[in-house]
Amino acid sequence: MSAYDFDLFVVGAGSGGVSASRRAAVHGARAGICEEYRVGGTCVIRGCVPKKLLTYSAHFAEDVEDAAGYGWQVEGARFDWATLIANKDREIDRLNGIYLRMLEGAGVSLIEGRAELEDAHTIVIGENRVTAETILIATGARPWTPEVPGIEHAISSNEAFHLETLPERVVVVGGGFIAVEFAGIFHGLGSHVSQLYRGEQILRGFDRDVRDALAREMLGRGIDLRVDCQVARIDRRDGHFVVTTARDEVIETDLVMYATGRRPNVQGLGLAAMGVETGRNGAIVVDDWGRTSVDNIYALGDVTDRMNLTPVAINQGRAFADTVYGGTPRQMDYRFVPSAVFSNPSVGCAGLTEEEARESFDVDIYKSVFRPMKHTLSGREEKTMMKLIVDAKSDRVLGAHMVGPDAAEIIQGIGVALTCGATKAQFDATVGVHPSAAEEFVTMREKFVAQEAQAAE
Ligand code: NDP
Repeated sequence: MSAYDFDLFVVGAGSGGVSASRRAAVHGARAGICEEYRVGGTCVIRGCVPKKLLTYSAHFAEDVEDAAGYGWQVEGARFDWATLIANKDREIDRLNGIYLRMLEGAGVSLIEGRAELEDAHTIVIGENRVTAETILIATGARPWTPEVPGIEHAISSNEAFHLETLPERVVVVGGGFIAVEFAGIFHGLGSHVSQLYRGEQILRGFDRDVRDALAREMLGRGIDLRVDCQVARIDRRDGHFVVTTARDEVIETDLVMYATGRRPNVQGLGLAAMGVETGRNGAIVVDDWGRTSVDNIYALGDVTDRMNLTPVAINQGRAFADTVYGGTPRQMDYRFVPSAVFSNPSVGCAGLTEEEARESFDVDIYKSVFRPMKHTLSGREEKTMMKLIVDAKSDRVLGAHMVGPDAAEIIQGIGVALTCGATKAQFDATVGVHPSAAEEFVTMREKFVAQEAQAAE
């Protein structure tokens, strides 16, 4: 037994930290963890989980409208924000309790409070001073906002989960995951939403067809999506806010929400004094094993700013624990990580975008844009987009993308196929589930030829 209090001490009890400490304890390590706020981290407390609950709620507005075409008359449907928030909070409390019990059940000691590293083996948490052979930093990230005059009037996603009332008008700034998700939530719940994005199209880094399809659907639903649009200032006036853009457009609103990215939580940890190297925006630099520039200090999840997704942090945590305590060294495999954006409609992606694939492969593209069967009776003008990117040489499917209902549910299975190295011929040989939207992924036969290429032939 080592001379330290713990074999492993984890700073930050979010998804990554909790998974790493529990797995390490299962392997027999004496593990401890500390948390300054609530166990569960961003995902459980103020991210993925409450967001998904709000997304479900927002979708009922369309479900009620769509029901009419199916013979249902739903009169007097009314939404109550306070009920939603109270029920959501109760569920978050329940999950927080489960996380606490999971730590206890695994024998991981929890210390509440904010940590500071005193030396490479000593962590100070309030009155407590503990020592550990290995330290794992899993402190996550927090919302970041640019310096704009009046930015103090804006909220971030953290506060959006606790608003007392649903604002009538909302301005969402940003074009990434959180911005499109909250634009959809507020719009669905009945707010008038303007989304302002500085670039030429939302969801930079996603497949071009995904970006265009989602923007089209958001505009079609009535979201006032403005691209190439920078905020110049925000003013408070007579109980509401006035957003002025760089083009001198003026938007009156009841809420301004910024979703302009997140920054690693490294402040006050004492990393610099320890010699732990940090990079862009303070992200902790780690090698493929999650090890920092200090031998016994590791880091994972959003604080390392690599692929900032909950399941990735969980996987990194388990890989770390299996390597250090389980005698089975392994690294997280970042290829083909499927992901989803819970916008309305939702987005699902696995593997490379067309743009990424074209950098290294000669590709064939298969694309399908169609009206979901449900809307033949509902009358809703909505199109689903599905796309496969195939290596022309090996026939291997390099990427799969979808914008449409249930994209997150559908892309999970496609992610398995891509991880297994499935070829387009194997997709074609797979029998479709009929009638479903998902079957489109195995029935796309015609290569997509861009109009410009057709004209040149
Ligand atoms: P993103 O990095 O996804 O998006 C940030 C957005 O803000 C971009 O559109 C960016 O524009 C814009 N932006 C950045 N700086 C400025 C600025 N100075 N002025 C105006 N706009 C600016 O961050 P999010 O906050 O949306 O989400 C953080 C991360 O959390 C995501 O990257 C993702 O990893 C994770 N997440 C995952 C979810 C999921 O899996 N469903 C859900 C929510 C979050 P530009 O593109 O031009 O840089």
